[in-house]
Amino acid sequence: MKVAVVTGASRGIGRACAIRLAKDGYTTVVNYSRSIEQAEAVLDIIKSNGGDGMIYRADVTNLDEVKTMFRDIDKAYGTIDVLVNNAGIVKDEYLLALSKDSLDKCFELNVKGYFYCAQAAALKMFRKKSGVIINMSSVSGTFALAGQSVYSATKGAVNSFTRVLAKELAVKGIRVNAVAPGFIATEMVDALPPEKVTEYLATIPMKRFGTADEVANVVSFLASDACSYMTGQILTMDGGLSL
Ligand code: NAP
Repeated sequence: MKVAVVTGASRGIGRACAIRLAKDGYTTVVNYSRSIEQAEAVLDIIKSNGGDGMIYRADVTNLDEVKTMFRDIDKAYGTIDVLVNNAGIVKDEYLLALSKDSLDKCFELNVKGYFYCAQAAALKMFRKKSGVIINMSSVSGTFALAGQSVYSATKGAVNSFTRVLAKELAVKGIRVNAVAPGFIATEMVDALPPEKVTEYLATIPMKRFGTADEVANVVSFLASDACSYMTGQILTMDGGLSL
């Protein structure tokens, strides 16, 4: 049995990753923090596709909840093979209007939450001397979009963290990579004002937003043995936005 844990898997990119990894044969843990019905619906899809797994409520900004979640998963299945650090938020605010609350919430979830889960998962992966950690970054980690200073800073941190963890954990047989999507059609992007949608679409050479399934394809590849010699990489998939 191989087990994958996807944080923030009740909707959007995490949902697509959980469904895809379950199709790839992983027993999949669908983590969520509030949306229990949506998480249950994801597990139903996994099961109707012939897969298996469980839903698990944990706020990944809460270290105790993260530790308990990984302990419980380990108790239930005895292994953790893949972690997709995905749960994240965006706060688009120009610097002069930026609130402390937005700053704190972005760093708590997009940075500290990733550290908490990576540490808890790696502690379990050490034992088997194998594992894969995939961090959901963003093209905003390297590409500047006005109004995204905080979000960009958190995703830049994810990129740095990915490279350093890859170096630290390689000797333990753990690969660490990141995916850096451009605009992907999820609720996060649905929340953009229509004029921003038009403005952003005009700047994408492929003239469309990506889909969560397209991100899940890349995650599936990174989790697989097809990239067994690849670690510390940040794969950008943005329809050409950052070119
Ligand atoms: P989304 O549709 O807003 O979904 C966010 C997910 O995170 C939900 O399942 C939510 O579940 C969960 N979540 C939120 N706070 C949580 C917490 N404290 N603990 C555990 N889970 C929590 O977001 P998305 O668009 O799929 O984005 C997912 C990731 O991709 C993020 O890291 C984002 O930065 C990155 N990304 C997105 C895009 C894009 O265009 N959409 C582009 C580049 C990168 P609950 O409702 O249960 O809390």
